[in-house]
Amino acid sequence: MSAPKVIIAGCGVAGPALGVVLKLQGYDPVIYERTDGPSELGLSLCLQPNGLRVLSLIPGLVDLIPRKRLRQLAFYSMLPGHERELARSNAPAVLHALSGGFGMEGVRRPLFLQALIDAAQAHGIPILFGHQLVAVDGHEGTDAERVVVRFANGHTDEASFVVGCDGLHSNTRACLFGKEAAMFTGLTQTGGISPIPEAFSALGPSMVNIYGDGVHMIAYQINDEQISWAITQREAEERETWRDMDVDRQRAFKESAFSQIPFGGGELVKTASRVIKFGLYDRPELKSWHKGRVVLIGDAAHPTSPVRLFFSALFASADDPPQTHQHLGQGANQAFEDIYHLARLLKKYNPGAQAPSAALLDTVFTELEQLRIPRTSALVTKARAAGNTRVVSGANMCLARDEVVRETWRGKEDLLGDDHAELVKTLYVDIFSEPFEAGKSEI
Ligand SMILES: Cc1cc2nc3c(=O)[nH]c(=O)nc-3n(C[C@H](O)[C@H](O)[C@H](O)COP(=O)(O)OP(=O)(O)OC[C@H]3O[C@@H](n4cnc5c(N)ncnc54)[C@H](O)[C@@H]3O)c2cc1C
Repeated sequence: MSAPKVIIAGCGVAGPALGVVLKLQGYDPVIYERTDGPSELGLSLCLQPNGLRVLSLIPGLVDLIPRKRLRQLAFYSMLPGHERELARSNAPAVLHALSGGFGMEGVRRPLFLQALIDAAQAHGIPILFGHQLVAVDGHEGTDAERVVVRFANGHTDEASFVVGCDGLHSNTRACLFGKEAAMFTGLTQTGGISPIPEAFSALGPSMVNIYGDGVHMIAYQINDEQISWAITQREAEERETWRDMDVDRQRAFKESAFSQIPFGGGELVKTASRVIKFGLYDRPELKSWHKGRVVLIGDAAHPTSPVRLFFSALFASADDPPQTHQHLGQGANQAFEDIYHLARLLKKYNPGAQAPSAALLDTVFTELEQLRIPRTSALVTKARAAGNTRVVSGANMCLARDEVVRETWRGKEDLLGDDHAELVKTLYVDIFSEPFEAGKSEI
């Protein structure tokens, strides 16, 4: 009997990884992607232990991902008259040591995506570029044995089930639950890739945060020579295209006041090889991620991209201190958690990877939602709550925020040693042993 076919919509970060995991279980996945080839757009992602643990289930993959392990956190204030280092901590290095060799790892998104695509192709998974999903038919009837998918170029295909991994602007989601506009959060981000500035060299591979009045800069290493950075501020709406700014805008930005950010931040702005700017968007939370034989995962289900969560988290108020948000750079990592649980539940209810009945899929998808919606919405809720006060403006608010950062990290400069293991586990409690404890994968 032939393996059940699965259509995966979207060859972003989640699509190819899901493809390999399903193929290893005995399914026959095919990936359809809207763009004409692997995307060169975007900057970087920060992989964390929960995401890396899932990727490690794909034999040989993690070693092929060009990445930089981050060892240190550093926090600075650029508030005029109060410019200073706020805190440092080697928590990421300790996290790596404690969590089975998975820490915080900076990756350049296009290179990471290519590694995932290479892995999918090495497993014989077809990836059809230039295919934009526009309609899904027959997903509503519980008796239907197949689901039919139509693409903008006129192509159609059918499969046993469909997984929508088509990101923030998911058509799969619109087909299931209707169209709704993405909501602009009021925050924009301007970012780039730059050589490592002299000021960073003493830190080693780090994630650096520089806080200002109504503005925040984050920067982390993605290889031995380069830093990916981004500046978040409250501004008018800007589209989310992940494309470079035009040359004149790039020049103006590089000569703007941002080029004067202290602690190496300004140097990053001036020396960027490319600068992109985009708005941060959100979507209303879904109560269900599936209908019939179609399910959503990743940003299509819960658009919680690393930048959206990470940055709203960093603008936390004194009532909602930032240590509770250590783990919030989670978009891609949450997508990998989705993949793990979807594969685990398929294995639980369909161990022989037979052609699944609609009832079986309903059981799998419902259990997936029951597990995942509370977790992903808790992360979003935390970030949104923090987001209410996220761009801290005015000297008093900024000084209070700086104090919270200092207090949060006081006495945590050096966390190496057994005495601190429990503290580090607490700091990273939400990702430390998710989605499974080291060595205890159920797939
Ligand atoms: C081009 C691009 C660049 C990005 N750069 C960054 C970055 O620098 N930093 C960051 O933090 N996050 C970035 N993100 C977002 C980040 O990849 C996701 O938030 C996260 O990894 C979750 O992954 P995902 O697979 O669910 O979604 P995504 O990685 O967004 O992938 C979705 C994929 O689906 C495709 N797609 C969309 N609609 C259709 C359709 N109708 N039919 C078929 N395919 C479709 C898209 O082209 C895309 O390849 C970027 C996303 C994209 C699309």
